[in-house]
Amino acid sequence: MTPASHLGNGQSPIDVSGWVASDEPEPILGYDSDAARVERTPGFVMIHFDSGSELTLGEDRYRLLQLHWHTPAEHTIDGDEFAAEVHFVHVNAQDELLVVGTVYRLGEADEGLQQIIDSLPPADTADEVPSLSAADHPPDSDGFYHYVGSLTAAPFSEPVLWYVGRSVRTASQRQVEQLQALCGGPNARPLQDRNERTILCVGCGR
Ligand SMILES: [Zn+2]
Repeated sequence: MTPASHLGNGQSPIDVSGWVASDEPEPILGYDSDAARVERTPGFVMIHFDSGSELTLGEDRYRLLQLHWHTPAEHTIDGDEFAAEVHFVHVNAQDELLVVGTVYRLGEADEGLQQIIDSLPPADTADEVPSLSAADHPPDSDGFYHYVGSLTAAPFSEPVLWYVGRSVRTASQRQVEQLQALCGGPNARPLQDRNERTILCVGCGR
C-alpha cells in the first residue's frame, strides 16, 4: 500500500458537484471488439478486450483495455451515493489513462449488465473467455462530468482523465449482490479531497 503522504493532490474518486458546462471535446465511443480474457485480482474482476475498441477525444485516440466494477459506486454526484459503478479503462499511445465511469442506483435490473454477469466463467475455470462484444455494452454517452484524477486502486497513479457519465443507470439489488460476490466484497475507495480541481460537463449543452 502506498503511504498517503506519497499521493498527489489529484486523487479519485471525488464528489461531482459544482460543475461548469464546457465545449471541450467529449469522448466519442467506437467500440468494436470482443472480450479477450477475464482477470481476477483480490477485490476485482476485470474483463480485458481485444484491440479494436476506441474512444476519440478531439485529435487523440484511446484504446479500450478493460472494464470492471465497484460496489458501492465510488463517485458521488451532488452528494448522492450510488449502488455500483462500472469503469471502462482506456490508454492512448503515450500511455496516458482515461476512464469512463457510469453509476447505477438501485432499481430495475439492467439487461446489459445481466448479460455481462451471466457471460463470466466460474472463478475456478482458467482461461475461459466470455462471449462478449464491447460493441454491445458501451457506456452511455449523454454528456460526461470531466475532471483530472487518479486510479482508485494501487498504485493510485495520476493523472487519469475521468469522464463520469451524466446519465445514471439502474441495477437490481440482486445484480449488485452478484457483482459484490464476483469481486469478493465491497471494493469502493472512499471519497478523496477535491482540492482546487475544476469539474467540467462536456456534451451537456444538448
Ligand atoms: Zn475502477
